[in-house]
Amino acid sequence: MVIDAGHDLHGNSETEPIGPGSSTRKIKDGGGTHGVVSGLTEAELNMRVAARLRPLLERAGIRVVMTRTETAGTSMGNIARARIANRAGASLFLRIHADGSTDPSARGSHTLYPALRRGWTDDVYAESKRAARVVQAEMVRTLQFPDRGLQERSDFTGFNWADIPVILVEMGFMTNRTDDRLLAMATYQRRAAVGLCRGTLRFLRRPSAPCA
Ligand SMILES: [Zn+2]
Repeated sequence: MVIDAGHDLHGNSETEPIGPGSSTRKIKDGGGTHGVVSGLTEAELNMRVAARLRPLLERAGIRVVMTRTETAGTSMGNIARARIANRAGASLFLRIHADGSTDPSARGSHTLYPALRRGWTDDVYAESKRAARVVQAEMVRTLQFPDRGLQERSDFTGFNWADIPVILVEMGFMTNRTDDRLLAMATYQRRAAVGLCRGTLRFLRRPSAPCA
């Protein structure tokens, strides 16, 4: 499987088509959000959880490819991330993010998956939706943040270019004081990784490993 820690040290204001053959273009990477209390960048939080998740999955016998392993450069953009996943022939493209909102009371976890669009996502729609359902459930059970459910998105470049099942997990809101304070703690980063590991193994129909 491919673990994609969202964003990088710097955003990327170049644009790219939101899907194969599309004339609609979007910025490659707006740079992500940051912690209202912790000051942590989303890019670094995503990386910390991804780095904890990798060994949990490897110990369960899953081969893992990372789109990045440090927070150090300009974001590669979402087509590049999808291409890494496609080339790996992975069983799941798991994108790790945290959310930001203008409403400081917004908090909790949610998981996004691609909307159905013929030629773009019809080959991955059903399995992505199934992955979103099981990963969201395990994530909420382990992290114990409010359950904001699932959301279909038609406008995510990284979804529309994916040829393998793809989901994007928004672990919590870094613009919410509670979510941010907890997500900045190593124990909660570990809980998030365990939840993602359990969800991934369920999706892959692997026997539930301890993910510990
Ligand atoms: Zn993000």
